[in-house]
Amino acid sequence: MSDALTGLLSRDAFNEQARQAINSGITGLAVVWFNLDNFKMFNSRFGFERGDEILKEIALILDAIFSRDKYKNNLLARFSDDNFVVLTNWSYVEINVDRVQEYLYSLHEDVTLRLRAGIYFPSENEDVRRACDRAKLACDTIRRNYSISSCMFHDEMSREFRLQQYILNNLNSAMKQNKIGVLYQPIVKLSSGKVCETEALARWNTSGTEYGIITPGHFIPTLEKYREIYKLDIFIIQQVCRDYNSRKKRGLPLVPVSINLSRLDFELCDIISEIEKSVVLNDIPRNMLNIEITESVKDEDVTVLNLGIEKFRALGYEVWMDDFGSGYSSLNVLKDYDFDTIKFDMKFLHGFDINKSEKAKYIMTSNLSMARLMGMKALAEGVETREQFEYLTSIGFDKAQGYYFGKPMTLDEIFELERGVEI
Ligand code: C2E
Ligand code: MG
Ligand code: MG
Repeated sequence: MSDALTGLLSRDAFNEQARQAINSGITGLAVVWFNLDNFKMFNSRFGFERGDEILKEIALILDAIFSRDKYKNNLLARFSDDNFVVLTNWSYVEINVDRVQEYLYSLHEDVTLRLRAGIYFPSENEDVRRACDRAKLACDTIRRNYSISSCMFHDEMSREFRLQQYILNNLNSAMKQNKIGVLYQPIVKLSSGKVCETEALARWNTSGTEYGIITPGHFIPTLEKYREIYKLDIFIIQQVCRDYNSRKKRGLPLVPVSINLSRLDFELCDIISEIEKSVVLNDIPRNMLNIEITESVKDEDVTVLNLGIEKFRALGYEVWMDDFGSGYSSLNVLKDYDFDTIKFDMKFLHGFDINKSEKAKYIMTSNLSMARLMGMKALAEGVETREQFEYLTSIGFDKAQGYYFGKPMTLDEIFELERGVEI
C-alpha cells in the first residue's frame, strides 16, 4: 500500500500505521502536513512531467532528512497531489522541517517553490485523522503568510476551524432566516464635511453560538475559499436594493450606496445580470449604486474582470477600486483597469500623527495627485481622528470614510447624523 508515484506510504497505509503508533503508548509524536504553494500553477507553467519530478524529489528529500534522525519509526506518506504527511518524534521536528525546506530551495533557486508545513502533537490515543486535520489546518493558516514557512497548531485554530464549518453549513439557512444583514458606513465629502455616499457592509448574527455577531473578516475568506461568496453577494445586493426602495417609497432622501464584490463573483455567476435584476425590480437609478472591487496582483486572468468593469461602466454604474495599497494591489492595477474612485487603504493612516508622520503625508499627497492625473476621485479609508480629517481636507482629498464619521449603522441612522447629508 504505497503511493505509486513516490513510493511513500499511501493515505490508508499511513492512517493504519500511525494509528498503531499513537495507540501504542509512544509519547512525543508529531504529525507534519506539507503542502507545496501554487503547485497547480507550477504544473500549468512547466507541465505535469516536471510537476511529477518535483513530487518525487520531495519524497526523496523527506526520506533523506528524516532517515538521518535518531528516531527510527518515522512514517512518510503522500496523501494526494502535493500533500505530504509525516509522523515523527517531536524533539527534532522543527529542525527537520527547516532542513526539508532549505534542501528543496537549494535545488530550485530559479523558481520559487515554497513547501509549507503545519505541525501538530497528537495526544495518546488521539484519532489519527483528527491529528492530520489539525496539522493541515496549521499548514492552511499560513497559505497567504509568506514570512513564515511552518506553523504549529494551537487551540485557537480549532475554534477557527469550527467557525469555518459553521459558516459553510449555515450560509443558506442564515440568509433565509435573515440572520445576515447589511449595515451602512457613511462616506463624507471633505469639501462640505457632509455625508455624500454610504458603503454597504455585511453582518452575520450567529446568536445562540459562541461567535455572536461576526464581521466579514471572519466569513468572506471562507466563502471565497469554498467558492460560495457569490451567494452572499447576491443576497446583500438584494437587501441593499430593498432598503433603498423602502426609503424611496416613504419619500425619504437617498444617497448612492457602494456594494463590495468579490472578483470570484465574475467567475461564479453572472453578477452583472444579478445586479441588474435587483436594480430594475426596485427601481434604482444606476448612478445610485457603486461597485467596489479589490483587485489582486496575483490574478492570472485579467480579461474576465476587465470586461466586467467595462460593462458595469457602460451601463452607468461607477466602479471603485477598494483597499488600494493593502498589499494585494499594485500600481499596475490602476494602469490596467478604469476606475471612477480609488479607495486608499486604511493602512496609510495607521498611527498618523500630523507633526511626525512626514513620510505618510508625502505618500497621501502623491496618492492624491496620482488619482487626479488619472481622472479618478480619491477616498481615504480609516479616518479615526479629527486631525486626520483636517489634514485630508487641507490637501484636497475628495472623500473619506472611517470611525471618526461613524461606524457602520442602519440606512435610516445615516440620515440622522448631526453632520448632515448632501443629496
Ligand atoms: P472594506 O470594503 O475596506 O470596508 C471597510 C472595513 O473597514 C469595514 O470592515 C469597516 O467596518 C472597517 N472600518 C471602517 N472605518 C474604520 C476605521 O476608522 N477604523 C478601522 N479600524 N476600521 C474601519 P468590515 O465591515 O469588517 O468589512 C471588512 C471587509 O469585508 C470590507 O472591507 C469588504 O472588503 C468586505 N466586505 C464587507 N461586506 C461585504 C460583502 O457584502 N461582500 C463582499 N464580497 N465583501 C464584503
Ligand atoms: Mg469596500
Ligand atoms: Mg476598503
